[in-house]
Parts: sequence; structure tokens; C-alpha cells
Amino acid sequence: MRSDHGEVFLQQMWDYMRATNVLQSPVLPAFFAFLTHVLLCLPYLLLDMLAGFSPQVQQWRISAPPPTLRQWFFCFGRVLRAYLTAVLPVTALLQVLGSPVMPEHAPSCWQLVVEVSACLLLFDAFFFAWHLFMHKTPWLYRSIHQAHHQQRQPFALTAQDAAGAELLSLLLLAMASARLVGCHPLSETVFHLRQHLAGGGGPLRLQPALGTAPATAPHGRSPLPSRPPYLLPWQLCPLFQPLGPALRHLLLISEGAL
Ligand SMILES: [Zn+2]
Repeated sequence: MRSDHGEVFLQQMWDYMRATNVLQSPVLPAFFAFLTHVLLCLPYLLLDMLAGFSPQVQQWRISAPPPTLRQWFFCFGRVLRAYLTAVLPVTALLQVLGSPVMPEHAPSCWQLVVEVSACLLLFDAFFFAWHLFMHKTPWLYRSIHQAHHQQRQPFALTAQDAAGAELLSLLLLAMASARLVGCHPLSETVFHLRQHLAGGGGPLRLQPALGTAPATAPHGRSPLPSRPPYLLPWQLCPLFQPLGPALRHLLLISEGAL
């Protein structure tokens, strides 16, 4: 019965999305990515402001002192400029060239969960490989990725404080992951939302609750590619847990830490 309710809800949501043609808007990929990230960062902005007054909130932070409102504002400006100059033009062109097919029926709950999980795992693997490649290739690091490491006092919004080319490459990897999985457009929308939720953990001691890897926080302060995949397979499935130590060892070797 619960599944029936869930599928009726998905169908109603899908019917609404089809009626409004929202998924066929050229600005949707860039707008959705920017808006979801900024909105998901707002609670962290509030916590950062409270940290200036409350020792209890301050002790939740990994880095100290908390960023000022001015730092948030300038970071917001850099992210907005990167989206407007790089992400929006390219993704709008791609959207015009290949608008998504809009099937009549919504996915089932099970289909949505499987497709979103597959997209997250695939994207995370792509992200990890691309990130490592940018660190291992000096000209790529200097020309694209170094901008992301300029920030010495990371806070939630700095997850997107990167060169426009890097933000674009990540969004294209996310879109390619959804295409490779062949998922329903509604599943793809949920995937993009969940992907930003994972990336918006910020430098607070809340990452485990949000499914964000703990090593994400010091990543912003280190030139080493210390960010492991967000969704480690052995965290998702007990069958993979025996592989955990071996995979972590390989990760450290690949980063030159061993
Ligand atoms: Zn990096």
C-alpha cells in the first residue's frame, strides 16, 4: 500500500513537470545546480553566523574562526560569475541540441531508487578519477583546479568556489552519468538534487550524517587530492566492507601518501 501511495505521488509530480515543460528549459541544468547548492548552503550560513556568538556552535566547526558575511558574499559572487560565464552557456546549448525525452509514466519507487543510486556511484567514480587526474597533471592543476584550492578557510559555499571550467566539467560528468545509466528524467532530477546535498556538507562536523566523506573538509587546505569518493561502496553495502581497508590502501598509494 505504501508503494502505491509513493507511485501515485511520483506520477502526480511527473504529470506536473510534464505539463510545465520545466525539464526542457535551456537554463534548467545550470539554474538547478546553482540554486540547489546555494539553498542547501543557507543553513550553514546561519550556523556560521551563530558561531560568532555561540561557543556550542563554534565547536561543531572543523576550521576556526567562522567565515564572515563578507567572505560568503564574495564567494557567492565568484560562484555566480562562474555559472553565468561557463556553465550556463554550454549546458543551455546542450539542452537545446538534445532535449530530454518525456515518457508518459513516472518511474516506480524501486526504479527511482535503483537509478539514483547507480547515477551517484557512477558519478562519484568519475569525479574521483577526474579529480585525481587534475592533481596528477600539472598544467591541468594550474589552469583549472588550483583556483579551488585558493580557499584556505573552507566553508559550505566554497565547495563550488572553483574555475568555471571545473564546475562545467563536473556538471557534464553528472549529466553523462545519468545518460549512461539511461535513467528516467525524474530520477535524474532527484540524482542532481542528492548530488548537491552530498557536496554541501561543508566544514562542519555533520558530514557523516549527510553522507559526505570526512576527508572533504581538510581537502580545501591541502594541495593533495585528499578527497575520496563521497559514496564509498563499502559504506553502502556490507558485502563490500571486507574490501574497505584494501581500497583505502590503494587510494593512499595512488595519492603518493604511501
Ligand atoms: Zn583537489
